Amino acid sequence: MIRFDNSYARLPQGFFTRTAPTPVSAPELIALNRPLAQRLGLDPDWLTSEAGIAMLAGNALPEGAEPIAQAYAGHQFGGFVPQLGDGRAVLLGEVLAPDGARFDIQLKGAGPTPFSRRGDGRAWLGPVLREYLISEFMAAFGIPTTRALAAVATGERVIRESVLPGAVLTRVASSHIRVGTFEFYAARGDKARLQLLADHVIARHYPDASGPGDLLQRVVDRQAATIAGWMALGFIHGVMNTDNMSISGETIDYGPAAFMDAFRPDKVFSSIDAGGRYAWNEQPNIAVWNLAQLASCLVPLMGNDDAAVAEATRIVHSFPDTYQREWLTRFAAKLGISAPLAEDEALIRRLLDLMAAEGADFTRTFAGLSMGTARNEFTRPEAFDAWAADWQARVSELRDARTCLLRANPRRIPRNHRIEAAIEAAREGDFTPFQRLDSALRAPFDEREEWADLALAPQPDEIVHRTFC
Ligand code: AMP
Ligand code: MG
Ligand code: MG
Repeated sequence: MIRFDNSYARLPQGFFTRTAPTPVSAPELIALNRPLAQRLGLDPDWLTSEAGIAMLAGNALPEGAEPIAQAYAGHQFGGFVPQLGDGRAVLLGEVLAPDGARFDIQLKGAGPTPFSRRGDGRAWLGPVLREYLISEFMAAFGIPTTRALAAVATGERVIRESVLPGAVLTRVASSHIRVGTFEFYAARGDKARLQLLADHVIARHYPDASGPGDLLQRVVDRQAATIAGWMALGFIHGVMNTDNMSISGETIDYGPAAFMDAFRPDKVFSSIDAGGRYAWNEQPNIAVWNLAQLASCLVPLMGNDDAAVAEATRIVHSFPDTYQREWLTRFAAKLGISAPLAEDEALIRRLLDLMAAEGADFTRTFAGLSMGTARNEFTRPEAFDAWAADWQARVSELRDARTCLLRANPRRIPRNHRIEAAIEAAREGDFTPFQRLDSALRAPFDEREEWADLALAPQPDEIVHRTFC
Protein backbone atom coordinates (compact mmCIF):
# COMPACT_ATOMS: atom_id res chain seq x y z
CA MET A 1 0.00 0.00 0.00
CA ILE A 2 1.56 3.30 -1.11
CA ARG A 3 0.69 6.40 0.88
CA PHE A 4 -0.41 8.86 -1.81
CA ASP A 5 -1.60 12.41 -1.15
CA ASN A 6 -1.95 14.12 -4.52
CA SER A 7 -2.04 17.83 -3.74
CA TYR A 8 -1.28 18.99 -7.30
CA ALA A 9 -4.12 16.88 -8.69
CA ARG A 10 -6.46 18.74 -6.33
CA LEU A 11 -5.69 22.05 -8.01
CA PRO A 12 -8.52 23.22 -10.27
CA GLN A 13 -8.92 22.61 -13.96
CA GLY A 14 -6.20 24.11 -16.12
CA PHE A 15 -3.12 22.91 -14.23
CA PHE A 16 -2.92 19.45 -15.79
CA THR A 17 -4.74 16.85 -17.80
CA ARG A 18 -5.71 13.49 -16.37
CA THR A 19 -3.63 11.11 -18.45
CA ALA A 20 -2.72 7.50 -17.69
CA PRO A 21 0.56 5.94 -18.75
CA THR A 22 0.38 3.85 -21.92
CA PRO A 23 1.16 0.18 -21.17
CA VAL A 24 4.23 -1.42 -22.74
CA SER A 25 4.56 -4.92 -24.17
CA ALA A 26 7.38 -6.56 -22.23
CA PRO A 27 8.55 -4.67 -19.14
CA GLU A 28 11.79 -5.77 -17.52
CA LEU A 29 13.42 -4.19 -14.52
CA ILE A 30 16.88 -2.77 -15.25
CA ALA A 31 17.57 -1.11 -11.93
CA LEU A 32 15.84 -0.43 -8.64
CA ASN A 33 17.25 2.11 -6.20
CA ARG A 34 16.63 0.26 -2.94
CA PRO A 35 17.92 2.94 -0.53
CA LEU A 36 15.66 5.51 -2.21
CA ALA A 37 12.69 3.12 -2.09
CA GLN A 38 13.25 2.79 1.65
CA ARG A 39 13.57 6.55 2.06
CA LEU A 40 10.15 6.87 0.44
CA GLY A 41 8.59 4.14 2.56
CA LEU A 42 8.13 1.86 -0.46
CA ASP A 43 8.84 -1.86 -0.15
CA PRO A 44 11.78 -2.71 -2.44
CA ASP A 45 10.75 -6.36 -2.60
CA TRP A 46 7.29 -5.42 -3.81
CA LEU A 47 8.79 -3.00 -6.37
CA THR A 48 10.85 -5.85 -7.84
CA SER A 49 7.80 -8.16 -7.97
CA GLU A 50 5.71 -8.50 -11.12
CA ALA A 51 3.14 -6.09 -9.71
CA GLY A 52 5.80 -3.56 -8.76
CA ILE A 53 7.46 -3.71 -12.17
CA ALA A 54 4.04 -3.30 -13.81
CA MET A 55 3.66 -0.02 -11.91
CA LEU A 56 7.18 1.16 -12.81
CA ALA A 57 6.47 0.42 -16.49
CA GLY A 58 3.11 2.21 -16.46
CA ASN A 59 1.21 -1.03 -17.03
CA ALA A 60 -0.73 -0.93 -13.75
CA LEU A 61 -1.78 1.89 -11.49
CA PRO A 62 -1.30 1.49 -7.76
CA GLU A 63 -4.19 2.29 -5.47
CA GLY A 64 -4.24 5.99 -4.70
CA ALA A 65 -2.43 7.09 -7.86
CA GLU A 66 -4.06 9.89 -9.88
CA PRO A 67 -1.98 10.10 -13.05
CA ILE A 68 -1.68 13.54 -14.61
CA ALA A 69 0.41 15.40 -17.18
CA GLN A 70 1.35 18.86 -15.93
CA ALA A 71 0.98 22.01 -18.03
CA TYR A 72 3.90 24.40 -18.34
CA ALA A 73 5.47 26.87 -20.74
CA GLY A 74 9.08 27.95 -21.02
CA HIS A 75 11.85 29.92 -22.67
CA GLN A 76 13.84 27.52 -24.83
CA PHE A 77 17.22 28.98 -25.81
CA GLY A 78 15.80 32.42 -25.04
CA GLY A 79 12.60 32.11 -27.10
CA PHE A 80 9.25 31.85 -25.37
CA VAL A 81 7.08 28.78 -26.03
CA PRO A 82 3.67 29.31 -24.43
CA GLN A 83 2.72 25.64 -24.37
CA LEU A 84 5.10 22.82 -23.46
CA GLY A 85 3.94 20.53 -20.64
CA ASP A 86 4.67 16.89 -19.82
CA GLY A 87 4.87 15.42 -23.30
CA ARG A 88 6.41 12.15 -22.26
CA ALA A 89 6.05 12.05 -18.52
CA VAL A 90 3.14 11.11 -16.30
CA LEU A 91 2.99 12.05 -12.65
CA LEU A 92 1.54 9.08 -10.75
CA GLY A 93 1.05 11.14 -7.62
CA GLU A 94 2.74 12.40 -4.47
CA VAL A 95 3.98 9.92 -1.91
CA LEU A 96 4.29 10.78 1.75
CA ALA A 97 7.46 9.25 3.17
CA PRO A 98 7.50 7.83 6.72
CA ASP A 99 8.91 11.15 7.99
CA GLY A 100 6.11 13.09 6.29
CA ALA A 101 8.23 14.44 3.42
CA ARG A 102 6.35 14.68 0.12
CA PHE A 103 7.73 13.35 -3.17
CA ASP A 104 6.42 13.31 -6.74
CA ILE A 105 6.61 9.91 -8.39
CA GLN A 106 6.80 10.42 -12.13
CA LEU A 107 7.20 7.99 -15.00
CA LYS A 108 9.35 9.54 -17.72
CA GLY A 109 8.85 7.93 -21.11
CA ALA A 110 5.36 6.70 -20.18
CA GLY A 111 3.68 7.37 -23.53
CA PRO A 112 1.89 10.25 -25.24
CA THR A 113 -0.08 12.92 -23.42
CA PRO A 114 -2.12 15.87 -24.73
CA PHE A 115 1.16 17.86 -24.47
CA SER A 116 3.20 15.53 -26.71
CA ARG A 117 2.80 17.62 -29.88
CA ARG A 118 4.66 15.57 -32.52
CA GLY A 119 6.64 13.50 -29.99
CA ASP A 120 6.01 9.82 -29.28
CA GLY A 121 5.96 10.23 -25.51
CA ARG A 122 8.74 7.71 -25.13
CA ALA A 123 12.38 7.66 -24.02
CA TRP A 124 15.13 5.40 -25.19
CA LEU A 125 17.44 3.46 -22.95
CA GLY A 126 20.45 5.81 -23.34
CA PRO A 127 19.07 8.98 -21.74
CA VAL A 128 17.29 6.90 -19.10
CA LEU A 129 20.53 5.28 -17.97
CA ARG A 130 22.41 8.58 -18.20
CA GLU A 131 19.88 10.38 -16.02
CA TYR A 132 19.82 7.47 -13.57
CA LEU A 133 23.61 7.54 -13.12
CA ILE A 134 24.13 11.30 -13.10
CA SER A 135 21.19 12.23 -10.87
CA GLU A 136 22.13 9.59 -8.31
CA PHE A 137 25.75 10.74 -8.35
CA MET A 138 24.61 14.32 -7.75
CA ALA A 139 22.49 13.10 -4.82
CA ALA A 140 25.40 11.08 -3.39
CA PHE A 141 27.48 14.23 -3.56
CA GLY A 142 24.82 16.35 -1.86
CA ILE A 143 23.72 18.50 -4.80
CA PRO A 144 19.94 19.16 -4.80
CA THR A 145 18.50 17.00 -7.55
CA THR A 146 15.63 14.87 -8.72
CA ARG A 147 16.30 11.20 -8.02
CA ALA A 148 16.03 7.96 -9.96
CA LEU A 149 13.95 5.25 -8.29
CA ALA A 150 13.97 2.75 -11.13
CA ALA A 151 14.69 2.08 -14.78
CA VAL A 152 12.57 -0.38 -16.74
CA ALA A 153 13.07 -1.64 -20.28
CA THR A 154 9.82 -1.57 -22.21
CA GLY A 155 10.55 -4.31 -24.75
CA GLU A 156 9.48 -1.81 -27.40
CA ARG A 157 11.43 0.03 -30.03
CA VAL A 158 11.79 3.80 -30.15
CA ILE A 159 12.50 5.53 -33.44
CA ARG A 160 15.09 8.31 -33.27
CA GLU A 161 17.96 8.69 -35.78
CA SER A 162 17.97 4.91 -35.58
CA VAL A 163 15.78 2.25 -33.99
CA LEU A 164 16.53 2.07 -30.27
CA PRO A 165 15.34 0.12 -27.23
CA GLY A 166 12.72 1.92 -25.14
CA ALA A 167 12.85 2.49 -21.38
CA VAL A 168 10.96 4.25 -18.60
CA LEU A 169 12.63 6.15 -15.76
CA THR A 170 10.83 6.50 -12.44
CA ARG A 171 11.78 9.97 -11.32
CA VAL A 172 11.37 11.25 -7.79
CA ALA A 173 11.32 14.98 -7.03
CA SER A 174 10.17 17.21 -4.22
CA SER A 175 7.95 18.54 -7.02
CA HIS A 176 8.09 18.98 -10.79
CA ILE A 177 6.99 22.62 -10.65
CA ARG A 178 9.22 24.73 -12.86
CA VAL A 179 9.85 28.39 -13.65
CA GLY A 180 7.94 27.50 -16.83
CA THR A 181 4.89 26.50 -14.79
CA PHE A 182 4.60 30.10 -13.59
CA GLU A 183 5.23 31.38 -17.11
CA PHE A 184 2.32 29.29 -18.41
CA TYR A 185 -0.25 31.27 -16.38
CA ALA A 186 1.56 34.62 -16.47
CA ALA A 187 1.65 34.56 -20.28
CA ARG A 188 -2.12 33.97 -20.34
CA GLY A 189 -2.76 36.75 -17.86
CA ASP A 190 -4.41 34.16 -15.60
CA LYS A 191 -3.79 35.88 -12.30
CA ALA A 192 -6.16 33.61 -10.37
CA ARG A 193 -4.22 30.46 -11.29
CA LEU A 194 -0.92 32.26 -10.84
CA GLN A 195 -1.96 33.06 -7.28
CA LEU A 196 -3.09 29.46 -6.67
CA LEU A 197 0.23 28.19 -7.98
CA ALA A 198 2.22 30.59 -5.78
CA ASP A 199 0.16 29.55 -2.75
CA HIS A 200 0.68 25.87 -3.58
CA VAL A 201 4.45 26.34 -3.96
CA ILE A 202 4.76 28.31 -0.75
CA ALA A 203 2.79 25.73 1.23
CA ARG A 204 4.77 22.90 -0.30
CA HIS A 205 8.34 24.19 -0.56
CA TYR A 206 8.70 27.41 1.41
CA PRO A 207 6.09 27.27 4.19
CA ASP A 208 7.61 30.15 6.12
CA ALA A 209 7.79 32.47 3.09
CA SER A 210 5.72 35.59 3.68
CA GLY A 211 4.44 36.08 0.12
CA PRO A 212 5.36 36.06 -3.59
CA GLY A 213 8.40 38.35 -3.18
CA ASP A 214 9.77 36.19 -0.43
CA LEU A 215 9.06 33.12 -2.55
CA LEU A 216 11.17 34.63 -5.34
CA GLN A 217 13.96 35.30 -2.84
CA ARG A 218 13.95 31.67 -1.67
CA VAL A 219 14.09 30.33 -5.20
CA VAL A 220 16.96 32.71 -6.02
CA ASP A 221 18.88 31.54 -2.94
CA ARG A 222 18.32 27.84 -3.62
CA GLN A 223 19.28 28.13 -7.27
CA ALA A 224 22.45 30.06 -6.37
CA ALA A 225 23.48 27.21 -4.06
CA THR A 226 22.60 24.48 -6.56
CA ILE A 227 24.47 26.09 -9.43
CA ALA A 228 27.56 26.69 -7.29
CA GLY A 229 27.40 22.94 -6.61
CA TRP A 230 27.33 22.23 -10.36
CA MET A 231 30.30 24.49 -10.99
CA ALA A 232 32.37 22.78 -8.31
CA LEU A 233 31.92 19.43 -10.06
CA GLY A 234 32.56 20.66 -13.60
CA PHE A 235 28.93 19.86 -14.35
CA ILE A 236 27.22 21.25 -17.43
CA HIS A 237 23.44 20.93 -17.43
CA GLY A 238 23.19 21.58 -21.13
CA VAL A 239 19.56 22.78 -21.48
CA MET A 240 18.91 25.45 -18.87
CA ASN A 241 15.62 26.43 -20.45
CA THR A 242 13.16 27.90 -17.95
CA ASP A 243 11.03 24.75 -18.23
CA ASN A 244 14.06 22.82 -16.97
CA MET A 245 14.58 24.99 -13.89
CA SER A 246 12.88 23.68 -10.78
CA ILE A 247 11.13 25.92 -8.27
CA SER A 248 12.45 23.71 -5.45
CA GLY A 249 16.06 24.34 -6.51
CA GLU A 250 16.62 20.72 -7.52
CA THR A 251 18.62 19.94 -10.65
CA ILE A 252 16.11 18.58 -13.17
CA ASP A 253 16.02 17.21 -16.75
CA TYR A 254 19.42 15.71 -17.47
CA GLY A 255 18.97 15.48 -21.26
CA PRO A 256 22.45 16.25 -22.61
CA ALA A 257 24.01 16.85 -19.17
CA ALA A 258 27.72 16.05 -18.86
CA PHE A 259 30.81 16.55 -16.73
CA MET A 260 33.99 18.05 -18.08
CA ASP A 261 37.13 16.00 -18.32
CA ALA A 262 39.71 18.58 -19.48
CA PHE A 263 38.89 21.97 -17.96
CA ARG A 264 37.66 24.56 -20.42
CA PRO A 265 35.46 27.28 -18.92
CA ASP A 266 33.39 27.70 -22.10
CA LYS A 267 32.86 23.97 -22.54
CA VAL A 268 29.63 22.81 -24.22
CA PHE A 269 28.59 19.22 -24.88
CA SER A 270 25.01 19.49 -26.08
CA SER A 271 24.58 18.92 -29.81
CA ILE A 272 21.71 21.45 -29.85
CA ASP A 273 23.63 24.25 -28.08
CA ALA A 274 25.54 25.53 -31.09
CA GLY A 275 25.83 29.09 -29.69
CA GLY A 276 27.21 27.99 -26.33
CA ARG A 277 24.34 29.64 -24.46
CA TYR A 278 24.55 26.97 -21.77
CA ALA A 279 28.34 26.64 -21.52
CA TRP A 280 29.83 25.81 -18.09
CA ASN A 281 30.84 29.39 -17.28
CA GLU A 282 27.52 30.83 -18.52
CA GLN A 283 25.41 28.84 -16.06
CA PRO A 284 25.26 31.46 -13.27
CA ASN A 285 24.33 34.18 -15.80
CA ILE A 286 21.66 32.00 -17.33
CA ALA A 287 20.26 31.28 -13.88
CA VAL A 288 19.84 35.03 -13.36
CA TRP A 289 18.17 35.33 -16.76
CA ASN A 290 15.77 32.50 -15.89
CA LEU A 291 15.04 33.94 -12.45
CA ALA A 292 14.26 37.28 -14.08
CA GLN A 293 11.55 35.45 -16.06
CA LEU A 294 10.18 34.07 -12.79
CA ALA A 295 10.31 37.57 -11.30
CA SER A 296 8.26 38.94 -14.23
CA CYS A 297 5.64 36.26 -13.53
CA LEU A 298 5.44 37.15 -9.85
CA VAL A 299 5.25 40.95 -10.23
CA PRO A 300 1.44 40.83 -10.81
CA LEU A 301 1.13 39.09 -7.42
CA MET A 302 3.43 41.62 -5.72
CA GLY A 303 1.24 44.66 -6.37
CA ASN A 304 1.94 45.02 -10.10
CA ASP A 305 3.29 48.55 -9.67
CA ASP A 306 6.68 50.24 -9.94
CA ALA A 307 7.47 49.29 -6.36
CA ALA A 308 6.79 45.62 -7.18
CA VAL A 309 9.08 45.78 -10.21
CA ALA A 310 11.82 47.44 -8.14
CA GLU A 311 11.47 44.82 -5.40
CA ALA A 312 11.51 41.89 -7.85
CA THR A 313 14.55 43.40 -9.58
CA ARG A 314 16.38 43.82 -6.30
CA ILE A 315 15.71 40.19 -5.41
CA VAL A 316 16.94 38.84 -8.74
CA HIS A 317 20.04 41.01 -8.39
CA SER A 318 20.76 39.41 -5.02
CA PHE A 319 21.75 36.24 -6.90
CA PRO A 320 25.39 37.21 -7.61
CA ASP A 321 26.24 37.86 -3.94
CA THR A 322 24.67 34.62 -2.75
CA TYR A 323 26.21 32.71 -5.64
CA GLN A 324 29.62 34.22 -4.92
CA ARG A 325 29.41 33.10 -1.27
CA GLU A 326 28.34 29.59 -2.26
CA TRP A 327 31.00 29.46 -4.97
CA LEU A 328 33.71 30.53 -2.52
CA THR A 329 32.57 27.95 0.05
CA ARG A 330 32.53 25.14 -2.53
CA PHE A 331 35.82 25.97 -4.25
CA ALA A 332 37.70 26.85 -1.07
CA ALA A 333 36.63 23.45 0.31
CA LYS A 334 38.15 21.91 -2.82
CA LEU A 335 41.45 23.44 -1.68
CA GLY A 336 40.97 22.16 1.88
CA ILE A 337 39.81 25.47 3.31
CA SER A 338 36.64 25.07 5.38
CA ALA A 339 36.36 28.70 6.52
CA PRO A 340 37.31 30.78 3.49
CA LEU A 341 38.46 34.39 3.50
CA ALA A 342 37.66 36.75 0.64
CA GLU A 343 41.30 36.67 -0.47
CA ASP A 344 41.10 32.91 -1.04
CA GLU A 345 39.25 33.69 -4.24
CA ALA A 346 42.52 34.78 -5.88
CA LEU A 347 44.16 31.47 -4.96
CA ILE A 348 41.25 29.52 -6.43
CA ARG A 349 41.18 31.59 -9.62
CA ARG A 350 44.92 31.18 -10.13
CA LEU A 351 44.56 27.40 -10.05
CA LEU A 352 41.55 27.47 -12.38
CA ASP A 353 43.49 29.67 -14.81
CA LEU A 354 46.41 27.26 -14.81
CA MET A 355 44.05 24.35 -15.36
CA ALA A 356 42.28 26.14 -18.20
CA ALA A 357 45.56 27.08 -19.88
CA GLU A 358 46.58 23.43 -20.08
CA GLY A 359 43.21 21.76 -20.22
CA ALA A 360 44.08 19.87 -17.04
CA ASP A 361 41.55 17.25 -15.99
CA PHE A 362 39.09 18.98 -13.66
CA THR A 363 38.33 16.05 -11.36
CA ARG A 364 41.81 14.55 -11.24
CA THR A 365 43.52 17.87 -10.52
CA PHE A 366 41.36 18.56 -7.47
CA ALA A 367 41.34 14.94 -6.29
CA GLY A 368 45.12 14.92 -6.74
CA LEU A 369 45.61 17.73 -4.23
CA SER A 370 45.13 15.32 -1.33
CA MET A 371 47.34 12.66 -2.93
CA GLY A 372 50.21 14.82 -4.14
CA THR A 373 49.43 13.86 -7.75
CA ALA A 374 47.80 17.06 -8.99
CA ARG A 375 51.01 18.23 -10.67
CA ASN A 376 50.89 15.16 -12.94
CA GLU A 377 47.90 16.71 -14.67
CA PHE A 378 50.12 19.49 -16.05
CA THR A 379 52.55 19.07 -18.91
CA ARG A 380 54.51 22.09 -17.65
CA PRO A 381 54.25 21.69 -13.87
CA GLU A 382 56.47 24.68 -12.94
CA ALA A 383 53.58 27.13 -12.80
CA PHE A 384 51.56 24.62 -10.80
CA ASP A 385 54.47 24.16 -8.36
CA ALA A 386 54.62 27.89 -7.74
CA TRP A 387 50.89 27.91 -7.06
CA ALA A 388 51.18 24.81 -4.85
CA ALA A 389 53.79 26.52 -2.66
CA ASP A 390 51.38 29.39 -1.97
CA TRP A 391 48.56 26.93 -1.40
CA GLN A 392 50.67 24.93 1.07
CA ALA A 393 51.46 28.12 2.94
CA ARG A 394 47.72 28.83 3.22
CA VAL A 395 46.57 25.38 4.34
CA SER A 396 49.49 24.06 6.36
CA GLU A 397 48.10 25.48 9.60
CA LEU A 398 44.55 24.22 8.99
CA ARG A 399 43.82 21.10 11.02
CA ASP A 400 40.84 19.95 8.96
CA ALA A 401 42.37 20.63 5.53
CA ARG A 402 42.77 16.98 4.63
CA THR A 403 39.24 15.93 5.64
CA CYS A 404 37.89 18.94 3.82
CA LEU A 405 39.85 18.10 0.64
CA LEU A 406 38.72 14.49 0.68
CA ARG A 407 35.07 15.41 1.14
CA ALA A 408 34.95 18.15 -1.48
CA ASN A 409 36.73 16.34 -4.30
CA PRO A 410 35.24 13.12 -5.67
CA ARG A 411 37.63 10.48 -6.97
CA ARG A 412 35.16 9.42 -9.60
CA ILE A 413 32.51 11.28 -11.56
CA PRO A 414 30.13 9.94 -14.20
CA ARG A 415 32.52 10.49 -17.08
CA ASN A 416 30.93 10.66 -20.50
CA HIS A 417 33.00 7.90 -22.03
CA ARG A 418 32.05 5.57 -19.18
CA ILE A 419 28.38 6.42 -19.49
CA GLU A 420 28.49 5.92 -23.25
CA ALA A 421 30.24 2.57 -22.83
CA ALA A 422 27.63 1.48 -20.27
CA ILE A 423 24.84 2.50 -22.65
CA GLU A 424 26.48 0.67 -25.57
CA ALA A 425 26.78 -2.52 -23.51
CA ALA A 426 23.18 -2.16 -22.28
CA ARG A 427 21.98 -1.92 -25.88
CA GLU A 428 23.55 -5.33 -26.39
CA GLY A 429 21.81 -6.63 -23.27
CA ASP A 430 24.80 -6.43 -20.92
CA PHE A 431 23.98 -4.27 -17.89
CA THR A 432 27.11 -5.07 -15.87
CA PRO A 433 29.04 -1.89 -16.85
CA PHE A 434 25.98 0.19 -15.89
CA GLN A 435 25.65 -1.60 -12.55
CA ARG A 436 29.35 -1.27 -11.81
CA LEU A 437 29.29 2.44 -12.57
CA ASP A 438 26.17 2.90 -10.45
CA SER A 439 27.83 1.21 -7.44
CA ALA A 440 31.09 3.12 -7.83
CA LEU A 441 29.36 6.50 -8.19
CA ARG A 442 27.31 5.98 -5.04
CA ALA A 443 30.60 6.04 -3.10
CA PRO A 444 32.43 8.86 -4.88
CA PHE A 445 35.01 9.28 -2.09
CA ASP A 446 35.99 5.64 -1.53
CA GLU A 447 39.46 4.71 -2.73
CA ARG A 448 39.01 1.19 -4.06
CA GLU A 449 41.44 -0.75 -6.21
CA GLU A 450 38.63 -2.45 -8.17
CA TRP A 451 37.36 0.98 -9.27
CA ALA A 452 40.74 2.54 -10.05
CA ASP A 453 40.07 2.55 -13.81
CA LEU A 454 36.90 4.62 -13.29
CA ALA A 455 39.00 7.50 -11.98
CA LEU A 456 40.99 7.75 -15.21
CA ALA A 457 40.51 10.51 -17.74
CA PRO A 458 39.53 9.30 -21.21
CA GLN A 459 42.24 8.38 -23.70
CA PRO A 460 42.18 10.70 -26.74
CA ASP A 461 40.17 8.16 -28.76
CA GLU A 462 37.66 7.71 -25.90
CA ILE A 463 36.75 11.39 -25.48
CA VAL A 464 33.06 12.14 -25.95
CA HIS A 465 32.67 15.54 -27.58
CA ARG A 466 28.91 15.71 -28.03
CA THR A 467 25.89 14.64 -26.03
CA PHE A 468 22.32 14.35 -27.27
CA CYS A 469 18.95 14.78 -25.56
P1 AMP B 1 13.09 18.60 -22.73
O1 AMP B 1 13.93 19.37 -23.69
O2 AMP B 1 13.37 17.11 -22.69
O3 AMP B 1 13.03 19.19 -21.39
O4 AMP B 1 11.62 18.66 -23.34
C1 AMP B 1 11.01 19.84 -23.79
C2 AMP B 1 9.57 19.54 -24.14
O5 AMP B 1 9.47 18.53 -25.15
C3 AMP B 1 8.73 19.03 -22.98
O6 AMP B 1 7.44 19.54 -23.12
C4 AMP B 1 8.78 17.54 -23.19
O7 AMP B 1 7.70 16.88 -22.55
C5 AMP B 1 8.69 17.44 -24.69
N1 AMP B 1 9.25 16.17 -25.20
C6 AMP B 1 10.55 15.81 -25.23
N2 AMP B 1 10.68 14.59 -25.78
C7 AMP B 1 9.44 14.16 -26.10
C8 AMP B 1 8.91 12.96 -26.70
N3 AMP B 1 9.70 11.95 -27.07
N4 AMP B 1 7.58 12.90 -26.86
C9 AMP B 1 6.76 13.91 -26.49
N5 AMP B 1 7.19 15.05 -25.94
C10 AMP B 1 8.52 15.18 -25.74
MG1 MG C 1 12.32 19.38 -19.81
MG1 MG D 1 46.05 16.19 -19.61
